[in-house]
Amino acid sequence: MRIWVNGGLRDADDARLSVLDHGLTVGDGIFETVRTSEGRPFALTRHLDRLTRSARGLGLPDPDHDEVRRAVAAVVDANPVALGRLRITYTGGLSPLGSDRGTDGPSLVVALDGVSRRPDSTAVITVPWTRNERGALTGLKTTSYAENVVALARAREKGASEALFPNTADRLCEGTGSNVFVVLDGRIHTPPVASGCLAGITRALTVEWTGAEETDLPMDVLAEADEVFLTSTLRDVQAVHRIDDRELKPEIGPVTAKAMRIFAERAGDDLDP
Ligand code: PLP
Repeated sequence: MRIWVNGGLRDADDARLSVLDHGLTVGDGIFETVRTSEGRPFALTRHLDRLTRSARGLGLPDPDHDEVRRAVAAVVDANPVALGRLRITYTGGLSPLGSDRGTDGPSLVVALDGVSRRPDSTAVITVPWTRNERGALTGLKTTSYAENVVALARAREKGASEALFPNTADRLCEGTGSNVFVVLDGRIHTPPVASGCLAGITRALTVEWTGAEETDLPMDVLAEADEVFLTSTLRDVQAVHRIDDRELKPEIGPVTAKAMRIFAERAGDDLDP
């Protein structure tokens, strides 16, 4: 695999980043995951804008979008895959072992691997741990993802592919790497960003294209929703057929099927919507 590290392409095995990089020692870094189809990145402008918002939230210098685009083009070119997961990581840079940021400036790493299409429907669990809707990192896509790793491992143990979090007020928030939508009486709802969820790019497009409403929802809406679906860069719109022990029938409800169709059509039209 050829990856981009600080100004050029390298073989992944030879690429170097300091072991004292703040991203590694304290998780002070940000990232974006971008889907590529036949080498073309989807919604790259929105991802770059969110990268900049995350950088500002963490107090990192603004990433240079031209440089990131150059890196993306080089990596995509060097790693031909049909469906790709492109990962842009921007770390805090070299630092002493303490918590203060170093002066060397951030590092930019761009890598790409091939992935397979996600199934059209999936099982999820709920977890008792909470998202903090008022944290310093709320809404930022930082590399401090270990809590998601733990929750996802719990989901996998239970035969599910995603774990849904409440926020500290026990309102529905989001998954480890996805946003959540519920269908009630034929209308689509998703928690507002104020719930503490990430402002997902797939979420924003789905709201725009389906007219879904942003609604503050109790966690137990999951027990009564007619349909539930997830959105994310790699899932697109994905139906949920099981939540904990509750089976949802049909496996893909009619409103979800329509949202999937709309998303596939619109997203196919425009690679940078
Ligand atoms: N929520 C979290 C915590 C995420 O990490 C992600 C994506 O990685 C999402 C939601 C979905 O966002 P997007 O649609 O931009 O991929």
